[in-house]
Formats: sequence, structure tokens, C-alpha cells
Amino acid sequence: PPSPPPPHIIILPTPGMGHLIPLAEFAKRLVLHHNFTVTFTIPTESSPSKAMKSVLQSLPNTIDSIFLPSVNLDDLPIDVKIETRISLTMTRSLSSLRDSFNLITSTHRVVALVVDLFGTDAFDVANEFGVPPYIFFPTTAMSLSLFLHLPKLDQMYSCEYRDVPDPIEIPGCVPIHGSDLLDPLQDRKNEAYTWLLHHTKRYTLAEGILVNSFIDLEPGPIKVLKELGNPSVYPVGPLIRTGDGSVDGSECLKWLDDQPLGSVLFVSFGSGGTLSYEQLIELAFGLEMSEQRFLWVARSPNEKAANGTYFDPHSTKDPFDFLPKGFLDRTKKLGLVVPSWAPQIQVLSHGSTGGFLTHCGWNSTLESVVHGIPLVAWPLFAEQKMNAVMLAEDLKVALRPKANKDGLIGHDEIATTRLLRLLRVLWKEKKERNLGVE
Ligand code: UDP
Repeated sequence: PPSPPPPHIIILPTPGMGHLIPLAEFAKRLVLHHNFTVTFTIPTESSPSKAMKSVLQSLPNTIDSIFLPSVNLDDLPIDVKIETRISLTMTRSLSSLRDSFNLITSTHRVVALVVDLFGTDAFDVANEFGVPPYIFFPTTAMSLSLFLHLPKLDQMYSCEYRDVPDPIEIPGCVPIHGSDLLDPLQDRKNEAYTWLLHHTKRYTLAEGILVNSFIDLEPGPIKVLKELGNPSVYPVGPLIRTGDGSVDGSECLKWLDDQPLGSVLFVSFGSGGTLSYEQLIELAFGLEMSEQRFLWVARSPNEKAANGTYFDPHSTKDPFDFLPKGFLDRTKKLGLVVPSWAPQIQVLSHGSTGGFLTHCGWNSTLESVVHGIPLVAWPLFAEQKMNAVMLAEDLKVALRPKANKDGLIGHDEIATTRLLRLLRVLWKEKKERNLGVE
């Protein structure tokens, strides 16, 4: 008899490179090691970014991708939070997702739908087609533990979490002050909080949750999550990119080739992170004063939000126009500044890279940890402060510069020998322990 068609999985990524990248890696494992075929159905609010297309084009040909028709978000206020924007992009894409389900199920044996953080509304569509829904959770087990616990916290406290005097207990985790909890938990009256709570209440409807972490990194929360039983939680990390296949950015790799082993601080705030103009200037002067070699992925500043390029990583304005006058000239012996995007995984695996000043996005964190690179933690938005607390206080692989009373991390703090000296100590220790360094 003819063999049955391979089992097929539909993946629905919510907007954001930090969601698409680990899902793409996950999909690669499914097709290369487990004989599944996969279709990405991708909700959009505008035409797909260059960064997105480059990830999708690098996938094996047993992975299809369909861009769902762009949704209209013109009715949203200008200061709408990303969690709301993402959730509405999803709900407004449900009818086109249903059309795609109709088409795909007519030719494929669909065995699962996989959504990420904010995709739980699509469970209803999967259920209509008798397809079990799963969640791929692209960040920490700590955040997942918090998500599953949130409906209870919501009932326990009526004030803002940041006003609770004692640290908040998250099952299996180091207690954490309310003000370090993820962004949408900082203002309970904002719609972003309502959306998050809505999703977390639906997490228990998932057939299973796959989390991009691993037991040695997060033993506490993973143990608790595994004991839950319903839903089943599977730690499948670290899933990180193996290469980005693009030639863009080969300039920085060539530059790195000419630098001494472990000497360069890589400075980058992920795909979405932006600084205010004032903060950008402090960082520039701090790097210059530190006399530390650096490779900096610079974006033009954004005064409104720390996630100014979340929906498209490439700045619309030339970031170099905002650097201090003469900066590039004065630092050209020690540093390289590239606009908007660098081949991060290649940079982190390059022998010349010795430290990573990062916004603590979870993909960046895993990529750094896997390559044994110590971190300077500079969280900006989403759950990044929680990641910074875990990295600096629990795992002790990161240093966290302090903001001054104006909320800025000053040039002194950046240039301070303390920070960079410590970085060098961490690096030396690593060398002595022979963790992958010559
Ligand atoms: N990335 C990259 N080049 C850049 C910026 C980001 O390749 O210049 C990749 C990075 O390697 C990571 C992802 O984009 O895989 C960013 O995800 P993360 O979770 O760190 O942060 P987010 O972008 O979601 O804030």
C-alpha cells in the first residue's frame, strides 16, 4: 500500500523577529530530524521586512510559507503597546487563517498547529478542524512559569505589581520585584495587560507547551513546569540559529578577523531595541572613553519607545547622523559601527568577540550563552528585565550597569573600568576553565 503522506504542522508566528527566528529553527528540526512537513502561515500588518524574508528564504524546501493578507490597524492609537498590536494582528487574521486551514487540510495530513506567545486565539480555528494546538514559548521557563501563574496573581493583588513591597513569588524562580516583571505587567489598566491575561488564561487549553530553554540553565522553573502535567511542558532549547545565510554584514566579519582574540565588545539591542537620543550619546561617549574595542549595531534614536523598530528592524533614518560629531573618526582604530543589522550569530561565534552588551532578548541571550560569551545586561522592554535579573543575579554570567537618577546609563558607568575590567576577568576565567577558548 502507498505510504501515508508525512505528518504536517502549521506554524503561526506572531509578529517580531524574536518570534520568527526560533520558530524557524524549530521547524528545521521538525523536517530534518523528524520527517514532518511544515507550512508557516504568517500574519502581517504591512509588507514583510527584509530581515523576515531572509530568514524564510533560508529554510529547506519542505517548509512552505504563506503570508496572510495584511490586516488594517489604522484605528489603533499611536501609543498602542506592542502586545495589543500583536494580539489584534492575530485576531484580525483569523478568517484568512481559516481559509488557509481549508486549503492545507485538503491536501495534507495536518497533525498540529503551533502558535507562540500571543497566538492563543488561533486555537479556535485549529479546533474547528480537529487539529490539536500547541504553544512554542520563545523565551524563558521563568516567564512561562509567570504566565501560567498570572491568573492567580491577578486575583491575589489589586494594586500595581510594582507597588507590592515584597518580591513576587513565581513558582520555581528567584523572587523578583514587581518593577522587574515584564512590561505589560507594569500598567494593569492598559489593554496590553488585559490581552496578556487573556492569553495566559488560554494557555491551559494547549495540548502541550514547548519552551526554548534547558534544564541546566533553569532547573527551578523547569522542574515545577514539568510537574504541572496539564498542559505538558517540554524544554526543547537551546534552539539558536545556525547561520543566517546572508552576505549582508560581511564587513563586520572581515573587521573582526583583524582584531585580537576575545578583545571586542559586541553592542546590539536585538531587532527591535532603540535608545533615546540622550542615551545614544551617553553610550557613544562611554564606548569612546572606555578605549575598549567594540562592534556596535547602531539604530537611529526613538524618543517614544524602547522598541522603536520592533515591526521592522531597519531604521528609516541614517543612524550615523545621530552620533556625536567626529565620533566615527576618533574611534576608527578601536571600533566599528554598522547601521541597523549585523550577522549576530556569526559575530558571537567569532573568536575576536569577548563580550556582548545586549538588551537581553532571549534569542540573543541563548546565542551568547551557547557561545560562552559573558554579557553586559541592558534590558529595554518585554521580559528583558526578568532575563537580566536571572543572568546577573542567578546565573552570574552578566553585569548590569546602573541607571542614574534621570533613568539614563551615563557615559561614566559605561566607560567605567569596573564594568569592562570585570568583563575581562570573566573572560580570563573562561579561558582558564578552557570553555571553548584557545
Ligand atoms: N539579530 C541579528 N542581527 C541583528 C539583530 C538581531 O541577527 O543585528 C537576530 C539575533 O541573532 C536574534 C534575533 O535577531 O536571533 C533577536 O531576537 P531577541 O530575542 O534577542 O530580541 P528581539 O529582537 O526579539 O528583541
